[in-house]
Amino acid sequence: MYASRLQESLPRVRDTITAAAEGVGRDPSDVTLVAVTKGHPLEAVEAALDAGLKDLGENRVGELARKAGELDRSDVRWHMIGHVQRRKAPRVVAVTDLIHSVDSLRLAQRLARVTGEGEGDGPVRVLYQVNTSGEEAKYGFPMESAEERILEAAELPELSSAGLMTMAPYTDDEKMLRDTFRRLRELLERLRGHRPVMGTQLSMGMTNDLEIAIEEGSTMIRIGTALFGERPGA
Ligand SMILES: *Cc1c(COP(=O)(O)O)cnc(C)c1O
Repeated sequence: MYASRLQESLPRVRDTITAAAEGVGRDPSDVTLVAVTKGHPLEAVEAALDAGLKDLGENRVGELARKAGELDRSDVRWHMIGHVQRRKAPRVVAVTDLIHSVDSLRLAQRLARVTGEGEGDGPVRVLYQVNTSGEEAKYGFPMESAEERILEAAELPELSSAGLMTMAPYTDDEKMLRDTFRRLRELLERLRGHRPVMGTQLSMGMTNDLEIAIEEGSTMIRIGTALFGERPGA
């Protein structure tokens, strides 16, 4: 079922990426498609890999570790995109290639500590999640103190910063979405002014807002629904 669904949905998503990127003079290959398999069975993971997708995203440490364990393939890069509890730091470091959701200085410090103690191999690659919308229910460094706090986290030698991540509000208000994404891009520019090795990745854009995110500079979009359909039980 997932294989036939992807046959239809993947070309459509790729066309959308290409059109959005080219519309603002960007190279579509500068946008990584992270296929979000959360909530879907292993069959979706296998279908995604068979369709040539290599970057897969999950938002729970347990589900990611279980799928990674059941999957008998090495051609996959796992992205952790959801909130990570500090006690799960060792596990997440052991199983992921990129953690998008480092949302506090304390989590950064914990990840650095477990990496220093030999979990994973080498520095752990991270993105710092910023609460660009100010919504209370959202995780992330608050916008007001993000610059200072992220620079502090980026000093940790066990972490390798690849850039920033944000989640936009769930809305069709195009201006609000654009402003949210632009804030993240401008924050990364300021951070890179202080610290050029901050990385250049901007993880922003989901099914609902991927075109606007790409127009505003996204280099990683995290797409679930548009590829796999509604999550079972959601
Ligand atoms: C679930 C999720 C996505 C994918 O959302 P869709 O709307 O299904 O594309 C992207 N990012 C994060 C952080 C998520 O939790």
